[in-house]
Amino acid sequence: MQLVYNDQPVMSTYLAIAYYYFTPILDLQEDLEAHRNFLNSRDIRGRIYLSQEGVNGQVSGEYRDALGYIDWLRKKYEKIVCKVQPCQEHAFYKLTIKIRKQLVAFDHPVDLSKRGNAVSPSTWKKMLEEKDKETVVIDVRNNYESKVGHFKGAILPPCASFREFPSWTSELEKQIPKEAKVMIYCTGGIRCEYYSTYLQEKGYTNVYQLEGGIIQYGFEEGGEHFQGKLFVFDDRLVVPLQEGDVEAISSCHHCGLPSDVYYNCANMDCNELFTCCHACSQVKVGCCSSSCMAASRLRPFDSSPRPKPFRKQAKKI
Ligand SMILES: [Zn+2]
Ligand SMILES: [Zn+2]
Repeated sequence: MQLVYNDQPVMSTYLAIAYYYFTPILDLQEDLEAHRNFLNSRDIRGRIYLSQEGVNGQVSGEYRDALGYIDWLRKKYEKIVCKVQPCQEHAFYKLTIKIRKQLVAFDHPVDLSKRGNAVSPSTWKKMLEEKDKETVVIDVRNNYESKVGHFKGAILPPCASFREFPSWTSELEKQIPKEAKVMIYCTGGIRCEYYSTYLQEKGYTNVYQLEGGIIQYGFEEGGEHFQGKLFVFDDRLVVPLQEGDVEAISSCHHCGLPSDVYYNCANMDCNELFTCCHACSQVKVGCCSSSCMAASRLRPFDSSPRPKPFRKQAKKI
């Protein structure tokens, strides 16, 4: 059977799904139970967060169960948009459904009436091709995400977390006038919902946000204008936007050769996230420095070419 999603053939046995939807959820416990009851007997793993402002999820599932979940979400949250990527196995280790204060850790609420102009991936692509010198493109992700892949020519803020964006914005305000055309993007679009609101509150009048983020852009437009790969917060860590070899734009922390493979330093008291080539990873046994190699609390080294992220309670299912 040929699986088709949004008129495109899907060749994999698993799907990774990312979604968010802003809607007032009055009874959070009831929504949580509804997700739990539906997913209980299905092969879906990942993270689902519910808050009074809406729902946000990143999950993976065997494709029939994944498509069933998308159908269920669409019935429950009428206008929800699910972004889908094919994958060869589960991208998550387990399923977590949680009630949270905010969908995204950012100390400014989203007022959808004040959000930027949402543009489709095809319009975004056209805007990139036609952009003039006064237009800026801002990567609204953490620095370790943009390091392995980003739109060509984008400003890459040196922020280690989303919470650092407001203070970085005061630097931006010194350099970029309020009437400039500002194009912003993130992984799946949710951070842009917050940040476009924030930019407009700061007085920017010409803000455009990529609808569905890089994931949807890759699905609809492939990898054009994007260099490197997409960082994702699951076991895959980095994924190409299109089939075939994609050159690494980041380099090995030890030797400087191109590499986009991420490691958490094997010294548990360091845990630094760094890119490292396969050869250096073997020599340094997964450590970021010689002093970490000599540390007392070292976790076992995963010598595979693309190790999965470290998990505290790593155990076989
Ligand atoms: Zn190296
Ligand atoms: Zn280290």
